[in-house]
Amino acid sequence: MKLFIAGEWVAKSNKIEVKNPFDNSMVDTVPKADAGDIDRALSFAETGAKVMARLPGYERWRILRKAADLMAARNEELGRLISAEEGKILAEGRLEANRAVETIMGSAEEAKRLHGETVPLDGDPGGSRKLGFTLRVPCGVVAAISPFNFPLNLVCHKVGPALAAGNSVIVKPATDTPLSALRLTEILLEAGLPPEGIQCITGSGAEIGDALVSDRRVRKITFTGSREIGDRICRLAGIKKVTMELGSNCPVIVMPDADLDKVATAVAATGYANAGQVCISTQRVLTSGKIYSDFLSALGPKVQALATGNQLREETKVGPMVREADALRVEEWVQEAVGGGARVIVGGTRSGAIYAPTVVADVNPKMRISCDELFGPAVAVTPFNSIDEAVELANDSVYGLAAGIFTENLEWAMKFARRVEAGNLHINWGPQWRADLMPYGGVKESGFGKEGPRYAVEEMTELKMVVFHLSE
Ligand code: NAP
Repeated sequence: MKLFIAGEWVAKSNKIEVKNPFDNSMVDTVPKADAGDIDRALSFAETGAKVMARLPGYERWRILRKAADLMAARNEELGRLISAEEGKILAEGRLEANRAVETIMGSAEEAKRLHGETVPLDGDPGGSRKLGFTLRVPCGVVAAISPFNFPLNLVCHKVGPALAAGNSVIVKPATDTPLSALRLTEILLEAGLPPEGIQCITGSGAEIGDALVSDRRVRKITFTGSREIGDRICRLAGIKKVTMELGSNCPVIVMPDADLDKVATAVAATGYANAGQVCISTQRVLTSGKIYSDFLSALGPKVQALATGNQLREETKVGPMVREADALRVEEWVQEAVGGGARVIVGGTRSGAIYAPTVVADVNPKMRISCDELFGPAVAVTPFNSIDEAVELANDSVYGLAAGIFTENLEWAMKFARRVEAGNLHINWGPQWRADLMPYGGVKESGFGKEGPRYAVEEMTELKMVVFHLSE
């Protein structure tokens, strides 16, 4: 495919090969942009921001609504593309394509709802003859940088609200999975988006990222990716609005009154989807000592049953990781835990980029498989004695994206909701659950700012205050 810059589809002699992670077969190539392309894109985006700011809300709604319809009609094609470039199983590719429709549709609705409010200035001692209200206006140029693991829906979570709010957006998709973002760009243009509204630049983040995020023409950065890159972007961004959706090592707390079959089903579903490469994957299962061995017995067979293989075959439940190097890293961390006294209950084997769904028991919270972000198909099980100890263990992390608890006890559930430091808290399910309309985002080093169209449009706009100084 070509990249989309300054209103045209452009090929370059310098190309990146996009490979299917299962067998390394080539899916397509994309151009490799350089710093000159970033400069060109930024100049064009400044003009684009003016074009977009003039576009009425109704027009922005109509374009996004039409794009959602076009995406819905192409669900199978988009789902297959996602699976081919990313490695997630077909069912997950299709689900992501469906969710992306909802995200764009939800963004369309927000295009009609952007509003300010009147401010009762007469409540101020000097405000008796003043009339005030706020105006919500677009930021201007938005730089949207996305990770590999949800190559369509996470791009939609940035592009949808940015366009709904009347901005011009420059998308920089992950190098491993740029095709879905390019396809989305095509669809938005087909739906009638002015070409000034979007550019999609493919290329290495390490080579072009600094020039994009540090440029003053960018007024808003929305980034989803690793903590390390997020940290770098924050340092380079300077004075501009920034949203950071970063990683985590999400915990689940299993209390002694939990329905263990339900917990095992939930952990098998939320720990291994997309081969564990989900920022809200269940990674740490903190389990009451009273039911510890019963829980391991319930979990083992469910994880064992997850068939691995080619993600494009319907029967596969867990596909390859995005790169073999990542599977090697997971293998190394599991072996390191075993060396420190942990036990592999299920899995623990690797074949190329496929790492078998794995359960590691007796994990010490200081082991890397527990205290760092694993981002792979293994869960670490650790025992605890009381709810207070469980909350302490859950919070013993630099991250705070999502967490879950299984209990029927309201006091325990409320203690969890109040005390656990995470942006999204789930009672009687694992951390990996998201409705695309809800406010979503982390605390601590999992980032700041919220996604979900209703909340993201606030992040993609500025609030201006208008005051009428009346004589009577
Ligand atoms: P990553 O390595 O941080 O890359 C994310 C994006 O940043 C890619 O587009 C990458 O481009 C780009 N990038 C790299 N260096 C850059 C630089 N110096 N300046 C600007 N951009 C740069 O993350 P990933 O491996 O793709 O994704 C996995 C991570 O994302 C995990 O940590 C996961 O938890 C997190 N994540 C968080 C959420 C959330 O909602 N909180 C959701 C999904 C994923 P290249 O691909 O060209 O390197």
